[in-house]
Amino acid sequence: MTAKIIDGKSIAANVRHNCRSRVELLKRSSGITPGLAVFMVGEDPASAVYVRKKIQACADVGIQSHKFLFSHSDTQDVVIDKIRELSADPRIHGILVQLPLPKHFDLKAVLGAIDQEKDIDGFHLYNVGGLVVGSTVFPPCTPYGVMLLLDNSGVEIAGRNAVVVGASNIVGKPMALMLMQREATVSVCHAKTRDLAQFTILADILIVAAGCPNLITGPMVKSGAVVIDVGINRLPNGQLVGDCDFEAVSKRASMITPVPGGVGPMTVTMLLVNTISSAMRSANVANADFALADL
Ligand code: NAD
Repeated sequence: MTAKIIDGKSIAANVRHNCRSRVELLKRSSGITPGLAVFMVGEDPASAVYVRKKIQACADVGIQSHKFLFSHSDTQDVVIDKIRELSADPRIHGILVQLPLPKHFDLKAVLGAIDQEKDIDGFHLYNVGGLVVGSTVFPPCTPYGVMLLLDNSGVEIAGRNAVVVGASNIVGKPMALMLMQREATVSVCHAKTRDLAQFTILADILIVAAGCPNLITGPMVKSGAVVIDVGINRLPNGQLVGDCDFEAVSKRASMITPVPGGVGPMTVTMLLVNTISSAMRSANVANADFALADL
């Protein structure tokens, strides 16, 4: 079997096209331009690249972005005060704090300062709790993007065995909750899992988000499985790879996401979706929540 490639780039491009139309419609009907505030503390070069990409993506669909840069020596209180100010600003519909924060910052306190109605990353405890009961305000972007890739590719979820490798707060755990919400039978594996292969081999849908190149080899994958590789790893030779041995796994899977060009383009795109949903809700537009089927 040679797996069909799930083309995240092209699916993301379609979603962005849809985003552009929604922004134009919102501007015309309510005079509202969706606004996103992006916070970055310190000078982490990788974070700077991500922030630049997010700001470009906003411009691409007509979202007004505002960048707030703080130095490593700025206090947490200064950052929190600004977040609170923007939480009350009606021109801002989404607030994003680029992670990681410097070590001396209290992540919970900073994320907790964001108005839950503007927490477009979905990291506020209110949104995390909402995810548990299936009614989150903003689904976290990476797993939200994965759900869209699955739906767009016609993958049946209910009743299937889904295995999530990786149990982080931003990818693995919310991913497992979203799949559970859609009635998959979900197993979650992590670095302490003994004999990873005994779980992965049972997966009809295998989602890998561990950050370990070549963690998933061909024999670990059930024939015909759908494999979503969330991992992004830079090899010493500069090559960007995921967590799967792409060549070997492609021979077993029925569908697979490439790295790059799979999950990555979806993550930033879902940030745009959440920001636009928030702006539409603020304008009391009916159907403000993008149904996945609409995208
Ligand atoms: P993390 O380091 O916070 O969590 C990694 C998880 O994987 C942990 O639960 C850990 O226990 C588990 N893990 C680590 N080694 C393992 C092993 N050998 N076997 C089984 N489980 C193992 O990372 P994260 O933020 O969840 O990100 C995971 C990967 O996804 C990274 O490569 C990251 O760059 C990538 N990522 C990609 C996107 C995207 O848009 N494509 C978004 C977020 C993260």
